[in-house]
Amino acid sequence: MAHDTGPGHPERADRIAALAAALDDNDAFGYERRESPPATDEQLLAVHPEAHVHALEALCAAGGGTIDADTVVSARSCEAARHAAGGVVALVDALLAADGPRIGASVHRPPGHHAERARAMGFCLYNSVAVGARWALDHHGLERVLVFDSDVHHGNGTNAIFRAEPRVLFVSVHQSPLYPGTGPATDVGSGPGLGTTVNVPVPGGSGDETFCSVVEHLVVPLARSWRPELLLVSAGFDAHADDPLAGCAVTDAGYAAMASSLRRVADELQIPLAIVLEGGYELGALTRGLCVTLEAIAAEPAAPPPAGLASHPLAVGALERARALLG
Ligand SMILES: [Zn+2]
Repeated sequence: MAHDTGPGHPERADRIAALAAALDDNDAFGYERRESPPATDEQLLAVHPEAHVHALEALCAAGGGTIDADTVVSARSCEAARHAAGGVVALVDALLAADGPRIGASVHRPPGHHAERARAMGFCLYNSVAVGARWALDHHGLERVLVFDSDVHHGNGTNAIFRAEPRVLFVSVHQSPLYPGTGPATDVGSGPGLGTTVNVPVPGGSGDETFCSVVEHLVVPLARSWRPELLLVSAGFDAHADDPLAGCAVTDAGYAAMASSLRRVADELQIPLAIVLEGGYELGALTRGLCVTLEAIAAEPAAPPPAGLASHPLAVGALERARALLG
């Protein structure tokens, strides 16, 4: 709430107020609510260079300022961003603990998936999901972490951070053309990470059939063959038909179906599932999207796949390309 982006900014404190009110109204859907700790220097510096962290902290200490046309910080923005990253780390710790919960969500702002190693951009300061994934590798010794990015914008930061990292399989579905302009299907990772980046650009107007098919017919089979030990979801709700920043047409039911698919494959592989909030700028769509996601991943039993969901050619093509590279 103390990360003040100024009047008229879409990534605003009202987003968290609306989410908190919706959780209060629904007894948090039975979830245990925990305060997020700030990320430590060790956790942040495993992803971001010290100079990046120091530059942001100096800007906040000076009262704030503008980083680019979209990205603004106030005096307490770095503190908020530390908790956003620390929330993912704490969630990863909880989910990987013996007898810990199997599902959870880290609900914070600012979002993180546009932040590159040394560059804040696109409302993002630190790349929270990347900090959590890196912590799972370095601290918990995991060998395979799947990050699925459902935000309507390409997660360029996460993509870049893990471009050459074979232990992180990054899969993104995003509208193209759209900000930030990255994430073509030809971007498949490099070096030892060749094949562990899977980009699925989709045209404006894409809705449930496309997004749900990418989950059910790409993410699910890829997870079955690659066998991650942890599933992290960069969950944006800005592919919703009502979102003002993009032109896709996902509905509440589509978000619920995507979440159910992810829950089913996490069950099948017996791995933890973590939802990490990214974007979503229409307050109704954002709150409903997160609420149906929390309900769907907690449902007992998980809902079945949507009847008659066709295999979208974009999902099929991406799966074929990914399998050819991953072997
Ligand atoms: Zn977004």
